Parts: sequence; structure tokens; C-alpha cells
Amino acid sequence: LYDLRNKRVWVAGQSGMVGSAILRRLGREGCHLLRSSHAEVDLTSWEQTEAWMAAARPQAVFMAAAKVGGIHANDSYPADFLHQNLMIEANVVEAARRHGVEKLLFLGSSCIYPRLAPQPIPEDALLTGPLEPTNQWYAIAKIAGVMLCQAYRRQHGCDFISAMPTNLYGPGDNFDPLGSHVIPALMLKADRARREGAAFMEVWGSGRPRREFLHVDDLADAALRLMTHYSDESTINIGAGEDLSIRALAELVADVVGFEGELRFDASKPDGTPRKLLDIGRIRALGWSPTIPLAEGLAQTYEWFLQNRPETR
Ligand code: GDP
Repeated sequence: LYDLRNKRVWVAGQSGMVGSAILRRLGREGCHLLRSSHAEVDLTSWEQTEAWMAAARPQAVFMAAAKVGGIHANDSYPADFLHQNLMIEANVVEAARRHGVEKLLFLGSSCIYPRLAPQPIPEDALLTGPLEPTNQWYAIAKIAGVMLCQAYRRQHGCDFISAMPTNLYGPGDNFDPLGSHVIPALMLKADRARREGAAFMEVWGSGRPRREFLHVDDLADAALRLMTHYSDESTINIGAGEDLSIRALAELVADVVGFEGELRFDASKPDGTPRKLLDIGRIRALGWSPTIPLAEGLAQTYEWFLQNRPETR
């Protein structure tokens, strides 16, 4: 059991959706939160990462920094996704070792599993088959992150762990129409279609792929649970325990937004992996389970969207 109270805690990537949710959650833990911004430290730079770590001396690190994006962004910028994520991971993990970080949680993504993994996907499906081509660059970088934690545990005895969240959504998400994941993209499109009184809204692909979605506040709870209760070289899944088709998701989003027109599927856009549902037996056994139903989380996220009208990044 690792106690976070009175510890110096750093959330790498704290301006993003995941990092800011973890930061909000840590606010209740009585720890000393270290603040950092992109402007202060570029984690793709070894010099800046090392200097920041040397000065701030965190005891616990949540690794939520990553270059992320939806199916189109991943497919269009393979070099950026692979290179930036490898640099960030390698820099933070090595700097954490050098400066005596006691515990580090690396966050990956469910796309690290083989495209045709058994469903729901158990942790030991890792590296048992070929990846989904549209996000293989990001996936390889995230697999390297898992291996870094294992390697540093074996060679240096570092208590570095890794976890694999499923597709995440919530306040602070990226609502860029081309770069975003499916939930913010559909929300943006449904909102625009409703305001313009459009007859239809466009949905990419066939609508048949199935995806699992977890609210980022549930993820933040899980991350804390693992930080305090998990210490093992195997990665551990964090998911919602259920999935739905993209068609059903689009209907749900349209409902939340109040768009009553038709859904039109654009078959020229990629479907990606056919199904991606995580087996969450292991993390359930540690006393965590998801609490926010999808319909409720979507309504809350739409509320946030309406109040913040986030700039497209
Ligand atoms: P993935 O889980 O890595 O495939 O990433 P995404 O969240 O980007 O896409 C999930 C699924 O939603 C894919 O089958 C997409 O084709 C589908 N989808 C439908 N409409 C959209 C959209 O407007 N944007 C995105 N990003 N995906 C969409």
C-alpha cells in the first residue's frame, strides 16, 4: 500500500483531459501537488524534463502526458504519434529513476492490444498478434511505455506500474472536428446540426464497430486506486465493462444534444478495429468499479461543452 498523503505528487500532462481529471481527484488526498505547464517544460526534451524533475523532486508521478488523437489524426501523423510519445515516456521514466521517484503510474491505451484480440480483452493478450493499422504508431509507443516500466522495475527495482484505460471522454476533451475521438466529434456535429436545423448529421464508417467508453472522472479514481494499491509488472486494464456500436453511440449523443434528424454513415471513412472491450476483472478485484453511466456522462460532458465552447485545438 502506497500512501499519497503529504507526498509531493506530479501529474505529467496536467493540462490535458486526463491529467486535469487526476489533478481534481488528487485535490481530496492531502498531498502536495506540483504544478507544471507546457510552457515550463517540454517533455519531449530530455534537458527540460531532467531539469524540471531535479528542481521539483516529485515522490509520486502520474504519467498522463501524451500526444493523442482520434482515428484520422493517428493515421495522418504517424511520425508525430510514434516519436513524441516515445520521447515523453523515455524522458519521464529515466528522469524519475535518476531523481528517486518512489512510485510512477504510466497510462497507456486499449489500442495496444492486437486488432483481433479475444473480447473482452485480458491483459495477457498484449503482444499476441498484429495491431490495428490506423493506430499502430501510437500503440507501439504505448507498448514501449509498458515495457519501460517493466524494465526499470527489473533492472533498477523502481516501483513503476502501467495501466491501460479504454476510450475516455469527459470535460476538457479535444473537440477538434478532425483530430478528436468519436465522442467529442459526434457531440460537435450533433450540436451544429441541431443549431442549423440540418436534416442529417454525418457519422464516419459503417456504424458497426463497437467501442467501450469510460468517463475521465472514473479513470481518475482508478488511477488513484492503482497508485495506492497496485505494484506489479503486468499492466492492468481500466474500462467500463460494457461496449456499444458506433451507431448506438451516435443515437445516444444525438439524443443528449437534442438533434432529431437522420444519421448518415460515410463509408469512405475508416472503421478501425472491429471491437475493443477490456476485461476489467483484475481492477475490480482491487476494489474499483466504474460508476458513471454513459448517458449521464455524455449529458454532463455536453453541459461542459456548452459552458466552455472549447477552442478547437
Ligand atoms: P479509435 O477507437 O482508435 O478507432 O478512435 P476514434 O474514437 O477516433 O473512432 C472510433 C470509431 O468511431 C471509429 O469506427 C470511427 O470511424 C467512428 N466515428 C464515427 N464518426 C466519427 C467522427 O466524427 N470522428 C471520429 N474520430 N470517429 C468517428
